[in-house]
Amino acid sequence: MTRLAKSAMPLTARFSCFNDYDPDALSVEQARTFIRSQLTPLQTPERLALRSALGRILASDVIAPANVPAHDNSAMDGYALRHADLSSSGETRLRVAGTALAGQAFAGSIAAGECVRIMTGAPLPVGSDVVVMQEVVEVAGDRVVIPPGQRCGQNIRRAGEDLAAGQAALAAGRLIRPAELGLIASLGCAEVSVYRRLRVAFFSTGDELCSIGTPLGGGEVYDSNRYTLFGMLRRMGCEILDLGVVGDDPALLDATFRQAAAAADVVISSGGVSVGEADFVKPLMTQLGEVLFWKIAMKPGRPMAFGRITAAGAGGEEGAAAWLFGLPGNPVAVMVTFYAFVRDALYLLMGADPLPVVPLLPARCSVALRKSPGRTEYQRGILSHAQGQWYVRPTGAQGSGILRSMSDANCFIVLEQDRGSVAAGETVSVQVFDGLV
Ligand code: AMP
Ligand code: MG
Repeated sequence: MTRLAKSAMPLTARFSCFNDYDPDALSVEQARTFIRSQLTPLQTPERLALRSALGRILASDVIAPANVPAHDNSAMDGYALRHADLSSSGETRLRVAGTALAGQAFAGSIAAGECVRIMTGAPLPVGSDVVVMQEVVEVAGDRVVIPPGQRCGQNIRRAGEDLAAGQAALAAGRLIRPAELGLIASLGCAEVSVYRRLRVAFFSTGDELCSIGTPLGGGEVYDSNRYTLFGMLRRMGCEILDLGVVGDDPALLDATFRQAAAAADVVISSGGVSVGEADFVKPLMTQLGEVLFWKIAMKPGRPMAFGRITAAGAGGEEGAAAWLFGLPGNPVAVMVTFYAFVRDALYLLMGADPLPVVPLLPARCSVALRKSPGRTEYQRGILSHAQGQWYVRPTGAQGSGILRSMSDANCFIVLEQDRGSVAAGETVSVQVFDGLV
């Protein structure tokens, strides 16, 4: 679908330029770095009504057309007055000349010895330069008594304090979250320019896979990967093309890869890249374009393919191409490799800048964990808080086929490549699954 920039150098050769490139022992960081180095954003803009832009990436800067706030206004309920009228040492009595409400300004200007009753957000009356909060003011008929010690300019929000007219409120590349929706609305913009959705096609491979809604045959398992992938991609705002289950059949796989590449920017397959199967899938994927097979030093998710499909699509389109992620088949490995590699890659292709990060945070591990140095492990954990400290413990069995370990978890426990076993009480890094926004 995408026209990928033609590069003088094939993918494999560009990889070899990287120091320490070893497809059979690539660290997670090396794989991430390499993938990022190959991708460029797709960046086709479209204009959308503001609400429809949630989860999209801004295609151009959003410029403030006017000051925000538009006028000086009160930050408090109280009285607006002239600082020059205040006694420097004692109390000051002022006459209340009128009222200023949010959306209803005081019409006149404040004369000497006067003040105006003012509500939060109301435009500052002409002549006033200080707002005194109502809690400290004594009211006596149409007069008020202001205590000493008021600072000129206090409790006033200045015009343009949030954003000055002409200033970029948001830069192109920004992911639009609820805060951005509100900020753009505060500028009065009803439409925004965003990049089009990324089209992602995916399918599962394996003769043993059965789709939901069909009774399981002997030796079959239900296909769950298309559902986790659907969920992860939907949450990223991608346009999804689910191509179903494809048996371990070279002709069918070939046709499916071509169809997927013709229709999508990115193709994600799961299964069929582990040892034994690779002999059969490898020549097929390689025939369709340039695909690298990696054994990444991680657990779960060791085998993975990355590359691009450049073969003509089912319709014979010239130059139809797509990036390919050949994920392992095990359900947990699919999710771990998606979060470790695919998520970043998709955001990069979507035009996100900066890429939304999932921070690594320290937590105390409440139990001992067995691990051998040499690969990064993504254990599934439960993070909880007790006595002023965050603790994490793994969910039960950590097998790469046990999806329940993901479902019961609220974070990954990321154990670095060089790290060995963890003693109870040691600090480990966690990546929390759910963010606030
Ligand atoms: P593979 O990578 O094809 O060797 O698959 C590894 C393991 O994951 C096998 O036990 C498969 O049955 C299982 N598996 C592969 N694809 C799926 C899927 N889509 N849903 C559930 N399990 C799968
Ligand atoms: Mg298989």
